[in-house]
Amino acid sequence: MMFSEDFISELKERTNVEEIISEYVNISRKGKNLIGLCPFHAERTPSFCVYPNNGSFYCFGCGIGGDIITFLRLAEHFDYVEAVKYLAERVGMNAVVSDEENEVHKQKSLVYKVNRDAAKFFYNSLMSNRGVEALNYLKNRHILPKTVKHFGLGYAPPKGYALTDYLKRLGYSEEIIILANLATKTRYSKCRDRFEGRLMFPIIDVRGNVIAFGGRALKNEIPKYINTSDTPVFKKSSNLFALNFAKNSGQNKIILTEGYMDAVSLHQSGFPNTVAGLGTALTLGQVKLLGRYSDEVILSYDADEAGQKAAKKAMDMLRENGINVKVLSIPKAKDPDEYIRLNGKDGTIKFKNLIDNSKSDTEFKLESLKIKFDISSSEGKIKYLTEAAKVLSSCESAIERDIFSSKLCDETGINKSAISLQIEKYRKMNFKKHKKNEFKNISKLTAAINDKVNKEKRENLRAACAEESVLSCIINNPDIANNIFSRISEDEFVTDLNKRIYRSIKNFSEQNKSFDVSFLSEKEFSLEEIGRITKITCLYTPNMGTRESVNEYIDTLLEEKRKKNIKNENSESEIKKYIENLKKIKK
Ligand SMILES: [Zn+2]
Repeated sequence: MMFSEDFISELKERTNVEEIISEYVNISRKGKNLIGLCPFHAERTPSFCVYPNNGSFYCFGCGIGGDIITFLRLAEHFDYVEAVKYLAERVGMNAVVSDEENEVHKQKSLVYKVNRDAAKFFYNSLMSNRGVEALNYLKNRHILPKTVKHFGLGYAPPKGYALTDYLKRLGYSEEIIILANLATKTRYSKCRDRFEGRLMFPIIDVRGNVIAFGGRALKNEIPKYINTSDTPVFKKSSNLFALNFAKNSGQNKIILTEGYMDAVSLHQSGFPNTVAGLGTALTLGQVKLLGRYSDEVILSYDADEAGQKAAKKAMDMLRENGINVKVLSIPKAKDPDEYIRLNGKDGTIKFKNLIDNSKSDTEFKLESLKIKFDISSSEGKIKYLTEAAKVLSSCESAIERDIFSSKLCDETGINKSAISLQIEKYRKMNFKKHKKNEFKNISKLTAAINDKVNKEKRENLRAACAEESVLSCIINNPDIANNIFSRISEDEFVTDLNKRIYRSIKNFSEQNKSFDVSFLSEKEFSLEEIGRITKITCLYTPNMGTRESVNEYIDTLLEEKRKKNIKNENSESEIKKYIENLKKIKK
């Protein structure tokens, strides 16, 4: 164990679980517990539950659960040591990692370090003779030297082995260089640079670590962008470029652009609250991240068809996750940078005005509809109003719906109450659809998790349920525990996961310790398995602890095990018979 049990116990005692989780989730009190929208899966009705009395959480939607350490591991992609260190810092305790510092943590630290050295190498390459082409490109895009330095932009030489050779000279193993996705193994098992002849954008997390790179082609090479694939420190779907700066901009609005270059030039023009996606459509993880640092997102996407399509998708996702959305449209310029330059020394102020006057997502959608239909004809009017009512039906604010209905009424001369009626009709339909979808998603998720976490549960449903009840009783009621330990051995368990949990609890008990998921090592149980253990813990009701109930669980368990044994024996004897028959035939 990396930290002493006393240390972890004190740490958890001092930690205010409610306070930490509410930094990520809007939770409200429901009886003794707290409930909110799950930060780990998309949902509209809350199924994420926090239990302050034992400091744990569980999502009834997706099955994720555990203690505050698990929560931070999932929410921040911390490893175990990082999560403990983070908590310790918050409550003013000194987390000393022992010599047996775990492998995962060591490896992650090395990947951070190799990334930082790679970033330095790219920066120095850009500043050297070989970086001329890339520097010229930046100059043409009006990027100043101080901006290059601020972002640590760089250049990956085209040679193919330059970075790898450099890092090896610094003492990094090929294994770490490949793990960081800075190089890949070629067919001839050589270690070759992943980025060649590209302008490099380091991606830095909110804690200041270089976690990945985006590489832009300088000519017309395909693909235009290459990004680091997922590594132990980087998940493309839950990071954003320049968020490390934007989070300190002191503003609760974030400008979201599509490309790295747009973000870089907006920062240079005095908009440090700009971030960029990582070359893919906006993901749920990124939306959740944006929600943590802002109340409002202003979309500054390309004006072309692809950009507008991506913007519409982003709007819906942001709105569904409770973030206000505005859409920036830039008149007479292809991107923010061009607009600012065309307007000379007033460029920045004018652009700020554009931001302040950017349209809400609803306004934006209604306007793009209006262009589509000819509202001077009755037919066009009907089509326009039908589509507009659909758009307005997804507005949660009654005031917003009312304002836009009045506008539609003015525009088309159609009675406002008719428009409102149509909107309400769609709202009812939406509600039904969402409920259905949510249910579908949850059952899909739960089914998947059932398979993933305890793969044997499906095949042995009755046994697994009895096992879980027994485990829940032991964890929650030490008085019953000893009774159960004396009556069944781990061999009586049918499913392997539950058997392992039982063994682990029994070990704790034999050492006179109370069972706590914080003390389970990553080698023993995966994060998903810890979630399952938390669920099992939360299952418990006082009713389950009565002697009758416990007897029933044990009986069920023994009976199911017997059935399983008979089945195994049968199949064994069948095989024997089959082999004997074969022998006879051969003779
Ligand atoms: Zn969930």
